[in-house]
Amino acid sequence: PPSPAESSSAAWTARDEAVVWHPFTQHTTWAGDEPTVVASAEGPWLTDVDGRRLLDGVSSLWTTTVGHCHPRVNEEVKRQLDTLDHATFLGSTHRPGIELSEMLVERAPRSAERSLEKVFYAGDGSSAVEVALKMAYQFSAQSGRARPDFVRLQHAYHGDTLGAVSVGGHDLFHSTYKPLLLTTVGAASPGDRANGPDRVAHAEADLERIMAERGEDVCAIIVEPLMQGAAGMFDYDASYLRTARRLADEHGALLIFDEVATGIGRTGSMWAANRAGVVPDMLTLGKGVTAGYLPLSAVLTSQRVYDAFLARPGDTGPRTFFHGHTYTANPICCAAAIANLKVMEEEGVLDQAAALGERLGGLLDGFAGDDRVAEVRRVGTMTGVEVADQGPRTGFDVCQAAREHGVWLRPLGNTVILMPPLNLGVSETELMIEALAKGLDDVF
Ligand code: PLP
Repeated sequence: PPSPAESSSAAWTARDEAVVWHPFTQHTTWAGDEPTVVASAEGPWLTDVDGRRLLDGVSSLWTTTVGHCHPRVNEEVKRQLDTLDHATFLGSTHRPGIELSEMLVERAPRSAERSLEKVFYAGDGSSAVEVALKMAYQFSAQSGRARPDFVRLQHAYHGDTLGAVSVGGHDLFHSTYKPLLLTTVGAASPGDRANGPDRVAHAEADLERIMAERGEDVCAIIVEPLMQGAAGMFDYDASYLRTARRLADEHGALLIFDEVATGIGRTGSMWAANRAGVVPDMLTLGKGVTAGYLPLSAVLTSQRVYDAFLARPGDTGPRTFFHGHTYTANPICCAAAIANLKVMEEEGVLDQAAALGERLGGLLDGFAGDDRVAEVRRVGTMTGVEVADQGPRTGFDVCQAAREHGVWLRPLGNTVILMPPLNLGVSETELMIEALAKGLDDVF
């Protein structure tokens, strides 16, 4: 281990810069921006190698649910480590994989007409989206006719693998790869402020038009329900999801909700689907499912989708879903997820998340009329504070300034994201908003 003199943030950053290539990072400015070198974490607090404590205002990467290093989750992960490290899900199965699947199905959104009954595992949000896309296409092929089109929203973000990028619509992240992508149909986004106050009606009309023109070729409509997260937190009304549900049904397409960001309590309900009162045919989840401990994601599907993959007499080829990953349903990841779901229930974390959302809303009302803030957008605990544009780095500068006031925040462009652990306390929530306010004072 490095000697004390060599263990400062500056020393670690120099070592990092020599060998590491970070995600979504321009390395000419990386070291100069003085990245936080995290040493440990507990509850909502991070501690860096210089001993400085920072409140984690973004749940690491929108993942932490019950707080970092929660004793119950730690215990369950350690127990699993001593019991079974890995067993393939090809030709074998295991208790954590089965139990987690039962828990997810029990907690999945449902209505009188629709429920999600089967769980297919993957490793991260993007790979869950890949699974959903391949499944939806194969479902159409095995249900009568292969439908080649996916409808996705403009400004969508579903991850960084090529299928997920194909259904994305975030120019900065996606346009470089256009020549490599699947062709998809971009529908107007119901959260797009450029379309004015009638944006939801405008987007509904656009989806009606697309489905009228080519609905019979569409295998699935994919959306981030209620909140387009990585676009910069653009919330929209549930009526759009009801329209998408109706149009998918009318045209025989599947509706996919990507709840990688919105799921596991982030909107103040277990799923955005519950909040909206709309049940999809497939739901992707990831991020918070393991409380932020380990990579695990999944696709929940209806029985109808699953049944289309079962061999039947007269088949001319296999109906199998030929997809899987080495770490599919890794038992340690599943154990972390089981522990997270149990702790969330035992400690009433969904109620805490709903209360946190309200508290955030109340505190952020304090920015009404503040001309340094262009807009506050929020669904439950998922919050974007768009700062008045003073240049491409204003959002980043506000986050850097907030860090000096003890809070770790990250921007998406000029939108500062607030997405704290779901059980954040009252005084910590106040501290987070105070640091944001002081950060604005420092920058403007
Ligand atoms: N889908 C949504 C809605 C997301 O917000 C994200 C990540 O932010 C992803 C998919 C991709 O997940 P991952 O980064 O785990 O691949």
